[in-house]
Amino acid sequence: MTDRYAVLGNPIEHSRSPFIHARFARATGQDLEYGRLLCPLDGFDALVRGYAADGGRGMNVTVPFKFEAARIAARLTPRAALAQAVNTLRFDADGWLGDNTDGIGLVRDIERNAGVALAGARVLLVGAGGGAAGALGGVLSARPALVTIANRSVDKLDALLERHAQAAGAAGTRLQGAPLDDCGSGYDVVVNATAASLQGAGIPVAAEVLARGALAVDMMYGAPARPFLDWAREHGATGRDGLGMLVEQAAEAFSIWRGVMPDTGPVLAELRREVDAKPS
Ligand code: NDP
Repeated sequence: MTDRYAVLGNPIEHSRSPFIHARFARATGQDLEYGRLLCPLDGFDALVRGYAADGGRGMNVTVPFKFEAARIAARLTPRAALAQAVNTLRFDADGWLGDNTDGIGLVRDIERNAGVALAGARVLLVGAGGGAAGALGGVLSARPALVTIANRSVDKLDALLERHAQAAGAAGTRLQGAPLDDCGSGYDVVVNATAASLQGAGIPVAAEVLARGALAVDMMYGAPARPFLDWAREHGATGRDGLGMLVEQAAEAFSIWRGVMPDTGPVLAELRREVDAKPS
């Protein structure tokens, strides 16, 4: 029997995860199928339980269900517990495992693929949703000098700061919160982890956040990320979309499910060509 996996979210039609996992499976000789599931906003539990009962082996979870996914797992890895957000579920017979591969995916993309060191850097993380929560622990483990988190609503921001205070201390990183319209200037790395690009809602912060030559990463990719990439370039920064992070976090999820780490370079290159040809 072919093992079944899927990505669940709302919206979900833009997701390139099925493409990525099909390439990983082929390259590593793993027998699996990977689909997309559009989940009603009030239907997360029912859909996940039904999929697992039907023989599904695991799932990626995306916007806006990562916090619910953390609640449905029987066990969380330390990085998922820190994030209180899960993007990878593995349906183990003795209890579902929840993990979060967004942080390591983002850090590998920034450091390895983009060639930008986070150690000692000044980093602005915009957003405090599931993507930001998953990313923050990974970013801190790379030991930046400063991480500012800016978010629209204060409650999520405060919770994120509180949960990560100890990890920031251990990393020697100054961790602080700020409102979107007053979050400082001159950052070496700016990460847009809001859903603003996905919604076509524009750039959530002022251009002064960008140091000259900064790396500006939008977790979104395809056509919706274009305004952010244009904005970065117009203000002297290097824009980078979320495709590299997507492929890197997917590789980590694949290794959690299958015990084998796929090579990400060829898949990222192929996906980049595919997205450039069909951006939306
Ligand atoms: P969530 O719904 O969990 O969080 C959304 C975040 O965006 C919140 O911080 C919210 O602020 C903020 N936000 C929403 N709309 C606006 C707006 N118009 N202006 C400013 N802030 C806004 O989503 P996720 O964190 O899961 O995902 C966010 C984005 O990151 C999505 O586009 C997703 O596709 C992408 N992503 C990509 C990944 C990749 O591998 N490339 C991995 C993870 C995420 P508030 O708290 O005030 O509501």
